[in-house]
Amino acid sequence: MTLIEIAFFVVSAYVGVLSAKMAADKFGVVGGIVGFFLGFGTAICFWLALGKLLSLWHIWRPLRPICRNGKCNAKDYEIIKVSAKETIWVCKCGDKYVRKGRAFMSLNEDENFEPYMIYTGLFCRWRPDK
Ligand SMILES: [Zn+2]
Repeated sequence: MTLIEIAFFVVSAYVGVLSAKMAADKFGVVGGIVGFFLGFGTAICFWLALGKLLSLWHIWRPLRPICRNGKCNAKDYEIIKVSAKETIWVCKCGDKYVRKGRAFMSLNEDENFEPYMIYTGLFCRWRPDK
């Protein structure tokens, strides 16, 4: 379990305890137990739905644009090098790319960056970087 997953679990358990307390006041011990699982389950479902909603966002603007050859989508890239400065991806065609901020650049054979795609506004999609 990652730190963020533990945090979501703790918040969900807290929601479960709160709903258990409210249900226990009205329906006693059995109500408290049922209330805990209802609150906990509702919180978990909320986080899962939120995650699905956020992944829908990537249909609008994928994490990485289609490659220069027009063949590879965001999920077709593999990370080949990670450093503090940059992350280098390679698409299935074998071309290398680097993402820096909002720019996605191709890395040519001389190890130089060439502008490729960029997005500007918060809701803008990838467009050619000139
Ligand atoms: Zn490709």
